[in-house]
Amino acid sequence: MATKKFKAESKRLLEMMINSIYTHKEIFLRELISNASDAMDKLYFKSMSENIGITRSDMAIKIEADKDARTLTITDNGIGMTKEELENNLGTIAKSGSLAFKTENEKTEDVNIIGQFGVGFYSAFMVAKKVTVISKAYGSDEAYIWKSEGVDGYTIEEAEKSSYGTQIILEIKDNAEEENYDEFLTPFKIKSLIRKYSDYIRYPIMMDTEHEKLKEGSENEYEKEIVTETLNSMTPIWKKAKSEITDEEYNGFYKDKYYDYDEPLAHIHTRTEGTATYTALMYIPAKAPYDYYSKNYEKGLTLYSSGVMIMEKCADLLPDYFSFVRGLVDSEDLSLNISREMLQHDRQLKLIAKSLEKSIKNELKKLQKNDREKYEKFFDAFGTQIKYGIYESFGANKDSLQELLMFKSSFGTYTTLEEYVSRMKEEQKYIYFASGSSVARIEALPQTEMVKDKGYEILYFTDHVDEFTIQMMHDYSGKEFKSVSADDLGLETEAEKEELKKTEEDNKELFDFMTEKLSGKVKAVKLSQRLKTHPVCITSEGMLSVEMEKVLSAMPEEQARSAKAQKILEINAEHPIFAKLKSLYETDKDAVASYADILYTQALLIEGMAIDDPVGFTNKLCEIMAK
Ligand code: ADP
Repeated sequence: MATKKFKAESKRLLEMMINSIYTHKEIFLRELISNASDAMDKLYFKSMSENIGITRSDMAIKIEADKDARTLTITDNGIGMTKEELENNLGTIAKSGSLAFKTENEKTEDVNIIGQFGVGFYSAFMVAKKVTVISKAYGSDEAYIWKSEGVDGYTIEEAEKSSYGTQIILEIKDNAEEENYDEFLTPFKIKSLIRKYSDYIRYPIMMDTEHEKLKEGSENEYEKEIVTETLNSMTPIWKKAKSEITDEEYNGFYKDKYYDYDEPLAHIHTRTEGTATYTALMYIPAKAPYDYYSKNYEKGLTLYSSGVMIMEKCADLLPDYFSFVRGLVDSEDLSLNISREMLQHDRQLKLIAKSLEKSIKNELKKLQKNDREKYEKFFDAFGTQIKYGIYESFGANKDSLQELLMFKSSFGTYTTLEEYVSRMKEEQKYIYFASGSSVARIEALPQTEMVKDKGYEILYFTDHVDEFTIQMMHDYSGKEFKSVSADDLGLETEAEKEELKKTEEDNKELFDFMTEKLSGKVKAVKLSQRLKTHPVCITSEGMLSVEMEKVLSAMPEEQARSAKAQKILEINAEHPIFAKLKSLYETDKDAVASYADILYTQALLIEGMAIDDPVGFTNKLCEIMAK
């Protein structure tokens, strides 16, 4: 009989399992029981939809530990596997595509992979030196035996098995210096692992255990008796009364089910009756999963119909802007036989989704109000998603999402828009914002000078999507958003405006000359109304800001990359450089052209923009320095 090789990635994962220094080796039992439970779910589902007549109560998981033979056996009467399924399911990792191994056998890597994916069946190799799987698919006459001692490969042969289902036999490793493998053969350890990880499994997990009992007719003589015990309570956590569940249990369920090491920030456990009858248990994670902002991330809640899982990830239950929520929904209103296709159009499902969305929003608002620290953590992880929600709907979701928004501000902390508005000065017309790659960079922006000087608060936009989002919102509670780089800041008095206009007219020729020299780079050179001490800055006219240009220029689409802001070079009339420009204009026009270019480039640098001609810029600067 030929030994078959594992697929390359499976082999690597296996190697990691065998040499695992992972401290939670005990999770192998949870993984195998969960597979057994899934297999029974599949059979139950089949039975329901094809009227086969197998019921839940016909199914059970059996565990046997044999200390002498060092074997731990897990038997289920689920759907079983055909020869091909044994080959495909156990010879390759199902999720191989998403498993990106960077370095092999590194401790952190090891833990991460186990933590993030839950490696399923292969985790058996953390505790077993040999794994045997005997399986018979439901409805088939043939059974097969799959055996493997690790990375060298596996064998599959025909076998005898009286009834359908799967039996997994682990030959437990010998005790090592730092590892006590023996304990996995003791009823005490097995019981405690099942209570810890698999209590809510909906099929009984049974084990024969030895007890002592008084010998009949005797008062002090004992005899041994074998009792079959059910080790799990079988009630899914979401079916229990809220008052019966501790936070620890809620969090434990989350961590086990979603392979997350961090406690969730909050859980939402709701039961609703009426137009839509369902129970939901949802969690807000503390951190974004590593692939959250990639195409690979799949949103969705697990969908159960009266306790039977019908879909692992039902995407229609969550709007994109709440795609970070994890959890499940159990409803009596959905038919078991419903197909994915039909589910999309199901009215009941839509009602449930609407109602869930409301619960999630309320929970987030509650968190925002009662536990700011947690909410900020949440917003750091998922705030961008909320902003996309407003942007991508062209502002249609504004009303439902705007209260969830927060921005850093010149007043030092994260602020909601409601809080910003409540702090606005009486004469203040706009909600001001400034954009940049970091808070430190924004704080140094010359454009913020005047606004700050007035004592107005400025929102700091450090997220790429920020400006796009508020452009879709237009205003908050009637107050328009205004960039500190915008045309008309609404800061100066009529008299001040007049004066600026006059100085500009007096120097029209100079400005026209500089504009011409910078043609193709800026739309105009103007006097600034927003600078106090700084010499120059770049602002823009129209819908597209300099910051937006920066974001778009990093995009792959040609059209996005060619979008340019209409830039204005602003000069501070109070700065000595302005006097210098004026006098040079009378004596040395070439120098003015040079200065214009240098000032423009400096303004670009302040904005953190790429400069057009770094060599030309340095040469010009040196020329002046050498004078
Ligand atoms: P996952 O369960 O995450 O898909 P596993 O490596 O645990 O990954 O299992 C791979 C596949 O093997 C399962 O998806 C399932 O199809 C099959 N399988 C595992 N255990 C059993 C079992 N006890 N009965 C039937 N099929 C099983």
